[in-house]
Amino acid sequence: MTLLNIAVVGGGVGGPCAALGLAQNGHHVTLYECATSTDGVGFAFRITPNSDRCLRSLGVDTVLGGAVIANSGRLMDAVGLVTAEFRENTDLGKAKKGTSVFAYRPSLQRQLLDRMSKAGVVLKPGMKVTSVDVDDTTLTFDDGSTISADLIIAADGVHSIVRPCIVDASIYYPKLSTDHNCLRFTIPKQTILTDSITSKLVDGDYKMFTWKGDEKRIIAYSVDADRQYNFNATHPAHMSKAETSNADYNGEDAVAYNHSISLSRVEEIYSEFDPRAIRLFELADPEGFRVWSLVDIDEIPQWSKHHTVLIGDAAHAVLPFGFAGAGMAIEDGVTLATLLPAGLRIDDLEGRLKLFETIRRPRVARVRDFSRIMSNAEDPKTIQDYREFLGGHDALEHARMEMEVSSERKTSS
Ligand SMILES: Cc1cc2nc3c(=O)[nH]c(=O)nc-3n(C[C@H](O)[C@H](O)[C@H](O)COP(=O)(O)OP(=O)(O)OC[C@H]3O[C@@H](n4cnc5c(N)ncnc54)[C@H](O)[C@@H]3O)c2cc1C
Repeated sequence: MTLLNIAVVGGGVGGPCAALGLAQNGHHVTLYECATSTDGVGFAFRITPNSDRCLRSLGVDTVLGGAVIANSGRLMDAVGLVTAEFRENTDLGKAKKGTSVFAYRPSLQRQLLDRMSKAGVVLKPGMKVTSVDVDDTTLTFDDGSTISADLIIAADGVHSIVRPCIVDASIYYPKLSTDHNCLRFTIPKQTILTDSITSKLVDGDYKMFTWKGDEKRIIAYSVDADRQYNFNATHPAHMSKAETSNADYNGEDAVAYNHSISLSRVEEIYSEFDPRAIRLFELADPEGFRVWSLVDIDEIPQWSKHHTVLIGDAAHAVLPFGFAGAGMAIEDGVTLATLLPAGLRIDDLEGRLKLFETIRRPRVARVRDFSRIMSNAEDPKTIQDYREFLGGHDALEHARMEMEVSSERKTSS
């Protein structure tokens, strides 16, 4: 039986999901990650039922890894007046089919890496890809070494080094399409609970609370087995333009990511907000404040060339307002694994990569559009429709069905 020799670039979210699914199929998979440590870095994200279902199919239960079920929340306006509250029963039956959770990125990465090594994926940290030869399916690394594979899966994120080998980088690059930046940080729950000004925010055990102003929002949710709250605070980009020496820049727009910002600047940006929100900024460690330009990429004309394919943010980075970038990367990973079973003939590989793109393109296009609209969406019906579209999808079932249809078409022609 043919087993493919597969190189995955990027150990973020999509790369490990693809690597795990393909290794579970029996293929020989090596994952190359430029970070030297595999401990996992970054903040947190919401995992909606569609991606939770995919993770469960790979044997990953995020709740066991410390993800918090998103079953209660309080929404407020900028000055702290409650506009809505929600509470849902934690229905474990439903959870088995997929639920909405808040996941701490380092914990999810640890779970994925652990499953990967059990499934036989060879993990190579500290290997930065510097170039790709898509004609020879060959990767070159910063130490000068090269490797060749039957298939390269590029899951190297929004600032992908592989994407320019597939599409024109002067047209398709990360852009500030809605002109927002996002401040990210975490605070231990105990710190919030023991402060007299903020304790009431988490009494009643709300797993999420948000403040929404005209152009600014603060979203906080519980992660890491309910030990920490993760904060995403969005605002017009010009208010927190990178001015520090640690800013990394990328793309033609010179968008900055992961740069630091002072507490006084943060307080200035949110000065009209609820005093409890300002108090939370003061309680946080300002050394941990990180600002990201919120970028996305216009729809690119092709996701693969020969035996190299882009997945996740490398193919279709979307804005975080739709809570779906990681979810799309997870769905990509399991879809690709479903389409590439053991025994697939090398001659059929290009066709399957095209099928992958055909399956995934309309869904991520809708997520991209909605995520742009959601940066300002007020219409509850629009939001509800989007939630159903996002959470109700079964990526695995969809891939299986499309594969059958495609095989039937081949047989009848
Ligand atoms: C503020 C904010 C909030 C968000 N909230 C949510 C949310 O609630 N829900 C959600 O679903 N999504 C959310 N997202 C989006 C989500 O984080 C991304 O969509 C997701 O991480 C994409 O996964 P990926 O695997 O494609 O890329 P990444 O997670 O970026 O992983 C890329 C990996 O590739 C590695 N790499 C890069 N270049 C190289 C190279 N040359 N050689 C080797 N390795 C390389 C990197 O080190 C990294 O490990 C949010 C994003 C932001 C900025």
